[in-house]
Amino acid sequence: MGAVTSSTGRVVVVGSTNADLLVGVAAHPAPGETVLGHGMRVMSGGKGANQAVAAARLGADVAFVGAVGDDEFADAALAGLRSAGVDLTALVVVPGRRTGIAIVTVSDDGENSIVVVPGANAAVDEAVVGAHVDLVGGAATVVLQGEIPRAAIEAAARSARGRLVVNLAPVLDVDEDVLLRADPLVLNEHEARLVAGALDVPAEESEEVLVRGLLARGVRSVVLTLGPRGALVGLDDDVTEVSAPRVRAVDTTGAGDAFVGALAHGLARGDGLVDAARTAARVGAYAVRSPGAQASYPSAGDELPAV
Ligand code: ADP
Repeated sequence: MGAVTSSTGRVVVVGSTNADLLVGVAAHPAPGETVLGHGMRVMSGGKGANQAVAAARLGADVAFVGAVGDDEFADAALAGLRSAGVDLTALVVVPGRRTGIAIVTVSDDGENSIVVVPGANAAVDEAVVGAHVDLVGGAATVVLQGEIPRAAIEAAARSARGRLVVNLAPVLDVDEDVLLRADPLVLNEHEARLVAGALDVPAEESEEVLVRGLLARGVRSVVLTLGPRGALVGLDDDVTEVSAPRVRAVDTTGAGDAFVGALAHGLARGDGLVDAARTAARVGAYAVRSPGAQASYPSAGDELPAV
């Protein structure tokens, strides 16, 4: 595959955007304890925004459907989307609501503890999606995750006319139709076992059998991400292993989102699913080599690590 070029179809991401507040601590406080932190940073985050930024940086034409509040964190939540050139005309600013935030405490031994307050992301409902049904319906690829209410996910899945990428992270209860329309359904191993359980597919099986079980249950295609081991792509009767390049992992935050954004970009420009997943695995590996989520994503023309 050659250099990344501009895409042929639009990617529409319906999802969450947050301001991530990161602080470092020597050790996490025990309940009731106060500790001194260091290195406060505010970064753009949220799975939907991360995925939109990943796709846009690679050259996709991306629009974002989501919501922020009218508070001081809105700009921080949107900064990454803005600088990546994502179309924000379908963004809703909810009066009187707070922007979604994630408070991330990172200890010196690298362990994260995270509190997410959805705020305005909880206001992304059926009506918000309904107001942009032409945008969603006109997209070559629609991308959904699990950080907005299920009614919005279900409405967007119904409105999609192009390819539907569903990354059910975190796993939430959605109409089975969303899972059966997904092409692909993108899950990590933990999520895949939960979804398998919900669809009455045997969950205690090997990874490959799990993928085959989801396909047999009627899911159109499945991408199971496996961290440093890459991913399995299940399509028709085939399960294809896609390797991730070996890299020195510094921070895996947002790697799954980089993978999904890159996958959406590839599918929107007409790549086959396995080819798109091969590039996405390299983009995911790129993202773990430096700290942060959006801050660690490649731009078109950046050299991706080779498998
Ligand atoms: P999630 O963060 O959603 O659990 P994964 O950990 O499976 O997702 O990571 C998504 C993708 O990012 C993987 O499929 C792989 O391509 C890449 N990736 C993640 N961790 C590593 C790693 N340590 N080395 C190389 N690639 C990685």
